[in-house]
Amino acid sequence: MTDFYSITSVPCLLHESNIRRFWPKVQLCTHGILCTSCCWPWIAGQDKDGYGVFGFRIAPNRWKQKRATHVSWAIHTGAFPLVEQMLHNCDNPPCVNFWHLFPGSQQDNLDDARKKRRLATGTKNGKYLHPDKTPRGIQCSFAKLTEQQIRDIRLYSTQGWSQRKLGAAFGVSKTMIASIISRQSWAHIN
Ligand SMILES: [Zn+2]
Ligand SMILES: [Zn+2]
Repeated sequence: MTDFYSITSVPCLLHESNIRRFWPKVQLCTHGILCTSCCWPWIAGQDKDGYGVFGFRIAPNRWKQKRATHVSWAIHTGAFPLVEQMLHNCDNPPCVNFWHLFPGSQQDNLDDARKKRRLATGTKNGKYLHPDKTPRGIQCSFAKLTEQQIRDIRLYSTQGWSQRKLGAAFGVSKTMIASIISRQSWAHIN
């Protein structure tokens, strides 16, 4: 399968302040930022095709507008895809959950990737097709946070996530989040 990431991306120009403005425009699920199942609809402006649009500043007097799906991809991967189309394996255009997105290039590749990705991630699962029917209010609880989760918590805290929101996302207390961010806990993890 084509490595979309390597052929279709340009370095990300997003400043941290833009990333901070991005998340409040997304309706996240109660499972938090590691959730791969639920759709996260864009709740701010949309274009005529139903895709979310996000305006951000790239220089003091220069603004740029991109589809929210592309911005989500850039936040997670560090680079914008060059392709115009960002496809959803959940078939839900306003969704900006990174795990539901993949960039398309040529139609052939695209169909192929779509097919493979569907199979690989089990998107016929009801959670993908009817995220609104998935029970809410149940938080994933982690007996023990993994090293990757510790890194994610620190990363997302620099991107504007409040400690309360991070606590809810990772199923731990706000106090625990604070001690992770200040490196009182898990100080050995960079
Ligand atoms: Zn979820
Ligand atoms: Zn989705």
